[in-house]
Amino acid sequence: MKIIFITAMLSLMMTACAQNKAQVQGAAANQEETFSLNDRIEKSEAEWKAQMSEMEYYVMREKGTERAFSGDLWDHKETGVYVCAACKLPLFSSETKFKSGTGWPSYYAKINDSHVKEETDSAFGMLRTEVLCARCDAHLGHVFTDGPPPTGLRYCINSASLDFEKAEKKADKEKEDKK
Ligand code: FE
Repeated sequence: MKIIFITAMLSLMMTACAQNKAQVQGAAANQEETFSLNDRIEKSEAEWKAQMSEMEYYVMREKGTERAFSGDLWDHKETGVYVCAACKLPLFSSETKFKSGTGWPSYYAKINDSHVKEETDSAFGMLRTEVLCARCDAHLGHVFTDGPPPTGLRYCINSASLDFEKAEKKADKEKEDKK
C-alpha cells in the first residue's frame, strides 16, 4: 500500500514538473529566433567603452554591480522583451519578471538557453553563478536558487545591462519588415 502511494506521489510530481517546464518554454518560444554561436560579437575594450556610458561599461565589461534601486528597470512593468544593452540580443521576457524586493530587475527564467550563458564566479569569497550575454560576453548579473515557481530561479540582473523593447514596438517593426 505504501509503495503504491509513493509511486502515485512521484508520478504526480513528475507531471507537475513537466507542465511547468512546458509553460516556461512556451513563454520563450514566441520570442526572437535563437542565435548561433557563430554570430558572436567581439570588440576591443576601447570600442566597447566608446559606445557605453560609464555605468554600462563598469557593469557589463568590468563585472560591476549598480546600487540597488538605482537602475531604471527594477520596477519596470511594461510588456515586452529585455535585450542586452550592448548588442541588443533578447535576454529576458516581461512574462518572467517578478517583484523580488532586491532593487534589481529579477526574472525566474531566461528567454532561452542559447542567449544567456552561466559561469561560476568565485569573486569576493562567494561561490555564485554569473550570467552573461552569450553573444557579446556582457556581464548581466547572477542567478540564485531562491526564486519563485515554476523554476525556483532568480536571475538578478543590472538595469545597466538591459534595454527594454516594448511588445507593440516589436509588432510594428515586424509589419514594417513585411512591407
Ligand atoms: Fe550582448
